Amino acid sequence: MDLTCWLDAARDRSDFIRTHRRRLHQHPELSFCEHNTRDYIAAVLRDLDIEPHIVATTGIVATVGQGERCVALRADIDALPITEQTGLSFSSRCDGIMHACGHDCHTAMLLGAAAILKAHEEMLSGRVLLIFQPGEEKAPGGATLVIADGVLERYKPEAIFGQHVYPDAPTGTIELVAGPIMASADELYWTLRGKGTHAAQPHKGANPIGAAAELIIHLESLLLHKRNPLHPALLAVTSIEGGTATNIVPDCVRMKGTLRSFDDEWRRGMWNRIAAHSKVIAGLHDVECSVEIVEGYPPLVNDVNAAAHARSVAESLVGAASVSTFEPKLWAEDFAFYAQRLPAGFWMLGCRPPHLTVMPGLHSPQFAPDEEMLPLGAAMLAATASAWIAR
Ligand SMILES: [Zn+2]
Ligand SMILES: [Zn+2]
Repeated sequence: MDLTCWLDAARDRSDFIRTHRRRLHQHPELSFCEHNTRDYIAAVLRDLDIEPHIVATTGIVATVGQGERCVALRADIDALPITEQTGLSFSSRCDGIMHACGHDCHTAMLLGAAAILKAHEEMLSGRVLLIFQPGEEKAPGGATLVIADGVLERYKPEAIFGQHVYPDAPTGTIELVAGPIMASADELYWTLRGKGTHAAQPHKGANPIGAAAELIIHLESLLLHKRNPLHPALLAVTSIEGGTATNIVPDCVRMKGTLRSFDDEWRRGMWNRIAAHSKVIAGLHDVECSVEIVEGYPPLVNDVNAAAHARSVAESLVGAASVSTFEPKLWAEDFAFYAQRLPAGFWMLGCRPPHLTVMPGLHSPQFAPDEEMLPLGAAMLAATASAWIAR
């Protein structure tokens, strides 16, 4: 089958995809609370004569086609705690919750792919595993639950593909790259305990604010000296809290931050360094420091063959001029957990309306992707999977 047929098939289903996208958009659910979303996806799949199976409590998996070989497609289904400000007619009906990361589009596009794959099932030379995954936005990441549920062992996919809507690129374009594409992201929490005193008698206490100030500067130099200058990495303190008045030295300061990298081994080494250096720097001020590091998503690394495959499919669908190399970002994506276990290809799907040069970004309350990209995303999923198992 000529790959562009998938694009024609998806365009014939544009109404189907858009309708489901809008319905999902109106009824967003937070990470790991996607009960209604799960039931909605299951009902749509049943209508398509595809049998859904619940995984990870609020996720769904299903297969189309038959045979030995299997390839997986993944969409994330959760929304964010954001109050929508798009003014769209189909805005969120749930107070304080919004599909501001485009996962409603991802879900609708995978439903679209399911519909066209099912309609051409006899042409598939294997099985396509559809993974509707909960909880992408929240640690430990729904991908870890799907994997712990045994989905990869049960269906044995040879490779997995996924996509994310991308507001920095116009509709009709696709960006991807082999190798590292997104970073690891670990959460850092510091507690600095000193000794409170009157501000006029600092010698009678131990000031955790002074310790925190020096620690923040020190952490910047730690990153500078311990990072391979050819490899991007980031260590940012993003929250600091402590103290109540102008004339009181407080007992305690708390800080939060993030550590991001494309290098898993370096990142793990940094955990120990951050903890050790923090204790020493705080100790110079007679302040005790404890550091809690919550391990987040690993770096997302695209497999060379899977990325090359997705790129050639993209070029067949939209032409080489509309496919470009994605500049890796220090964002994080729990698709990385699949990529640690099997060859993975993840691409960015342009969703900026052609008449705009910039648009509100992911996680913005005004994020409103161009729905014209929906059939292309569905076609990319279906064509990438069918061509992979036909290889
Ligand atoms: Zn997000
Ligand atoms: Zn997202």
